[in-house]
Amino acid sequence: MKKFMDDNFLLTNETAAHLYNTYAKDMPIIDYHCHLNPQEIYENKQFKTLTNVWLDGDHYKWRLMRANGIEEEQITGSASDYEKFLAWAKTVPMTIGNPLYHWTHLELKRFFDIDEILNEHTAPFIWEKANEKLRSGKFGARDLITRSNVKVICTTDDPTDSLEYHMKLRDLQEFETQVLPSFRPDKGLEINQEGFKNWIAKLQDCSHHFIHTYDDLLKALESRARFFHSMGGRLSDHALNKMVYTKTSKEEVSEIFLKALKGEGVSTEEESKYKSYTLIFLGNLYNELGWAMQFHLHALRNNNTKMFHQLGPDTGYDSMYDGQVAEPLVQLLDQMDVQNSLPKTILYSLNPKDNYVLASIIGSFQGDGIPGKLQLGTAWWFNDQREGMLEQMKALSNVGLFSRFIGMLTDSRSFLSYTRHEYFRRLVCSLIGTWVEEGEVPNDQQLLEQIVKGICYENAKDYFSFPAYILQK
Ligand SMILES: [Zn+2]
Repeated sequence: MKKFMDDNFLLTNETAAHLYNTYAKDMPIIDYHCHLNPQEIYENKQFKTLTNVWLDGDHYKWRLMRANGIEEEQITGSASDYEKFLAWAKTVPMTIGNPLYHWTHLELKRFFDIDEILNEHTAPFIWEKANEKLRSGKFGARDLITRSNVKVICTTDDPTDSLEYHMKLRDLQEFETQVLPSFRPDKGLEINQEGFKNWIAKLQDCSHHFIHTYDDLLKALESRARFFHSMGGRLSDHALNKMVYTKTSKEEVSEIFLKALKGEGVSTEEESKYKSYTLIFLGNLYNELGWAMQFHLHALRNNNTKMFHQLGPDTGYDSMYDGQVAEPLVQLLDQMDVQNSLPKTILYSLNPKDNYVLASIIGSFQGDGIPGKLQLGTAWWFNDQREGMLEQMKALSNVGLFSRFIGMLTDSRSFLSYTRHEYFRRLVCSLIGTWVEEGEVPNDQQLLEQIVKGICYENAKDYFSFPAYILQK
């Protein structure tokens, strides 16, 4: 029997352990997509208790606590920090088989030097020991990042964001990690959502461009993208829950935009036309700027109306969507490609049924002499677990180039999530190590070193056109 989560955790054979310890373990991290708050990073936010750093806002844990029969009062309600922690501690033993069982213990080990298994009985000791460390003054947000050897963090930001804290962070000498913005203009694309007009007004204010026409909108979006670029931003991100594409013209989309501004209803087809044209415009711009464009596909959000009214979005009531993706996605990418303006693109789907579909689609648009110009994004959210990651990597290796994969990101709101890069790296080494042990791949250390270091760090470093100063600071 293997020991629980020892040094060889997830490393299934000797070659895997060698690859991990020799090449993967000490590589720095480029966390190119996450939801950390730049203000909290700048202010080196301090956490009073383990609940603050671990449970506040963590809807992954909330879902499991609900499934375990814990009352909402002890999850998001007014129970004390300790009661909430204890409710989680009681739940943890029930989470075996779920990645949170591993994440929990990995985070306790790596950040707090706690090797005990968390349960109701060990909870008081772990609470005291972790809180003591948190209060030591060495466990602020920035300290946790530095401890994790993170070179670059790309946050996710609305185009109307002033990027005030990115600016302050850029000038902060004592903090070596670069925190760059990513451009996420979802609110400008969701023409049928409540709040669209207000968002346009906000964009007008921050871009100092009057927005009366669709042309004005495109100019304002472009000026904000260029501002993000000047702040070191090299990525955009789009949440496309349902992939749509409809061929249209600028005249038609201009009319649709004016209808929406007047508060008149926009049909589903018109919405699709508006999104298609605007995405192609943005793709063109991203390509000119040398950015990578990310699509996050197939999330079905706010499924529970009752709980949405009580708690709002991002509280643990989302799921996978099972719609069709291939045809509209290909048409959209092809339109960009026909105009010679297809940017570097990373595709993530929340539904693992799309792994092979997306892996094969990216192969249709590779080119321009860029290694892995189109990427199958790493296993996302519900797929961010052992099987999900292995399935994503196997799909990519079977129909594309695993060796050019830009690897892991946390997509997290938590400063303790960096251990997920370790989890990922162990799986990468395990997969390759097994191929070597089975005689399917030669034991060529030079090649293996290049591939392992590539997937852990070097590929992402080469792929994103970060300004030269970024990796030097
Ligand atoms: Zn995200």
